[in-house]
Amino acid sequence: MDGIRLLLCTDMDRTVIPNGEQPEQTSARERFTRFCAQPEVKLVYVTGRHLHLVQDAIAEYGLPEPDYAITDVGTKIYQVIEGEWFELSGWEAEIDPDWRGKSRQQIEDLIGPMDGLRLQEASKQNRHKLSYYLPVESDYQKVMSRIADCLQQQGVAASLIWSVDETTQTGLLDVLPRNATKLHAIEFLQQQLGYRRDEVVFAGDSGNDLPVLTSPVQSVLVANATDEVKDAARQIASENGYESALFMAENTRIDGDGNYSAGVLQGVWHYVPAFETLFEKRGMTHE
Ligand SMILES: [Mg+2]
Repeated sequence: MDGIRLLLCTDMDRTVIPNGEQPEQTSARERFTRFCAQPEVKLVYVTGRHLHLVQDAIAEYGLPEPDYAITDVGTKIYQVIEGEWFELSGWEAEIDPDWRGKSRQQIEDLIGPMDGLRLQEASKQNRHKLSYYLPVESDYQKVMSRIADCLQQQGVAASLIWSVDETTQTGLLDVLPRNATKLHAIEFLQQQLGYRRDEVVFAGDSGNDLPVLTSPVQSVLVANATDEVKDAARQIASENGYESALFMAENTRIDGDGNYSAGVLQGVWHYVPAFETLFEKRGMTHE
């Protein structure tokens, strides 16, 4: 068991927070919390939420406090030390050049009004995150390509991230600096902390997790994800040649053992079986 360690990066909503339609296995979060408390494990939340909503979710759902948090869809990274949250300024410096010195307001002005596009609340915007609502039934790909064209003409390097909040059936479109994605933020943290690729596992459930799920980062798609996301993840991972870095958690029993945080642990056991052995040894079986 010597020397094993894990940088466990996980999305929050509908990945470790059981706020989807599907059932959560009994005491799944309790086991997940005990797992994350092990000295070999560093926990990183990777989420679209902003700081206060991350803290609210931790309190409301009794989730473990993380060591780091990548928030606002990858535009901010915090380190958490004894309950205090510190923003990593190195990350802002890393993503700042992509927008060519333009402010969020200037990016918004460049995009201008478009059919169906509606700005999200001020609390969901930040210096490097411009977020819109867009009806789920709209032709979001067309809107995204129009935005991409318009920003490209101005030399702005942006990532456009589309996702759907399933509980409210709301389409969300984020315009971010190109490198300010969940994937780049995870890779940045991995390098800063000196973890090898095989010591990192990511878990997610939805559209804005796809860039990580289909990358070389060892990833877990929880079983409660929709069939659309499962199909897209399989297809893109295979196109990218990273099928072996995508694990689909499954409900192998009737109690949702592949859903939410139980699915995350299923994925960890898949990539690093030594962890399962370790926890059995410590009297913390996953049953
Ligand atoms: Mg999610």
